[in-house]
Amino acid sequence: MTNKDTPHVDAYAAREARALLAPFSYEPASLGPHDVEIEISHCGICHSDLHLIDNDWETSEYPLVPGHEIVGTVAQKGALVTHLDLGARVGVGWQCGSCLQCEWCERGDENLCSSIVETCVGRQRYGGFAERVRVDGRFAFSIPDGLSSEVAAPLLCGGITVYSPLRRYARPQSRVGVIGIGGLGHMAIRFARAFGCEVTAFSSTAAKEEEARAHGAHRFVSSIDDAALKAQRESLDLIISTVNTSLNWKRYVTALRPNGVLSFVGVVAEPVSIQTGLLLARSRSVTASPIGGRFAMREMLEFAGRHGVGAQVETLPMSEVNTALDRLRRNDVRYRFVLSRD
Ligand SMILES: [Zn+2]
Ligand SMILES: [Zn+2]
Repeated sequence: MTNKDTPHVDAYAAREARALLAPFSYEPASLGPHDVEIEISHCGICHSDLHLIDNDWETSEYPLVPGHEIVGTVAQKGALVTHLDLGARVGVGWQCGSCLQCEWCERGDENLCSSIVETCVGRQRYGGFAERVRVDGRFAFSIPDGLSSEVAAPLLCGGITVYSPLRRYARPQSRVGVIGIGGLGHMAIRFARAFGCEVTAFSSTAAKEEEARAHGAHRFVSSIDDAALKAQRESLDLIISTVNTSLNWKRYVTALRPNGVLSFVGVVAEPVSIQTGLLLARSRSVTASPIGGRFAMREMLEFAGRHGVGAQVETLPMSEVNTALDRLRRNDVRYRFVLSRD
């Protein structure tokens, strides 16, 4: 479908905040020595895409082409790209560049670099709801053969988001809690189970118990039943919260064993209030983290491929992007949407 001699890229863009997406084409920047051009086959839809379309963070530039869970094949590459062959299947997530020289980049924490370049944020930085995209090849990651492109796409943002606290804080014998059984939460359960952990799912919806167990949860606890939460006292080493609603955080902190960690990967609108005495007495921590660095990305994809951990997805053709976005706004998805090129 792509004609390399035709420089323009066909995409779907929002022309203003909260607008429906409409066909849009643009001239890509010239291919730099480290860049790759990816012929996109699939792109996941993340909640952040809705925030960008709606300008919720007041950083959006229009026309805005969303999409930062990109999977496709390398169609062109710059002279200095030696780690990827033409035709290789690769993925790109939220981040597509950094300075590669600062302390954080040298430590493999490129996601913490102050010069982070984000795939679909900023003027004329167009994302993956498109036929092609040009990005720095050092932020394009090989997709293992064991993962289909549909299942791999949501790993590139949602997957790395929940994998990062697991790789940092969990051990095979850890007891891990996951709050929220949605787009992020179901991947967290799958990864934690594959790590070898004992997994407890927390949800406000009792009907999700069966699904949570199907993803790999050993136990299910209502996230809003105070007596049930109280009974979890000192039972978990790590709790990953994927929700954006306020919960009784005191109960979750007291559910942590000594040295336990409560890790937020979802943004809670209200401030989180926690008595420091509860942290101090048992050396507990509360933390949060965004996506992951390049090494974590490679590791996550390799691990996912080996253990068959992917997202549960519903795939729609890219031309139906507005239907998918509308349904995502209404939380009508099990569990992530992936757009496939028509
Ligand atoms: Zn995302
Ligand atoms: Zn840096």
